[in-house]
Amino acid sequence: MKTIYDEQNIFAKILRGELSCKKIYEDDKVLAFEDIAPQAPIHILIIPKNKYISFEEFVSEADNNEITHFFKIIAKIANDNNLENGYRLITNKGYNGGQIVPHFHVHLLGGKKLSL
Ligand code: 5GP
Repeated sequence: MKTIYDEQNIFAKILRGELSCKKIYEDDKVLAFEDIAPQAPIHILIIPKNKYISFEEFVSEADNNEITHFFKIIAKIANDNNLENGYRLITNKGYNGGQIVPHFHVHLLGGKKLSL
């Protein structure tokens, strides 16, 4: 059975402008903002504006243009934030994956040598 998207999740509230965020990038399909509890000198969250709960839902329900655009924007954001020495992308999926916010997002971490 398909899980219903929770309209009250924190990222949905940010997208509706009910909660503020430190915006890094925005277009009609994608929003990126600083994580409120950064785990590295640079910790940016990138989210699609359309409602997908998880990575799995994003890749199965979004069309190819949206998926390609999303990942190209992540590369652009990394490029714009001086991460030429490297960075890490993470997406947590579900309970075992440690996903807290049920709106698909990618963490972009960098700015130092990250431990494993
Ligand atoms: P998850 O564990 O779901 O992959 O990560 C959710 C992330 O959202 C966490 O890194 C957490 O710090 C971040 N976060 C939670 N609440 C807020 C908020 O209100 N604003 C921002 N900018 N980030 C948040």
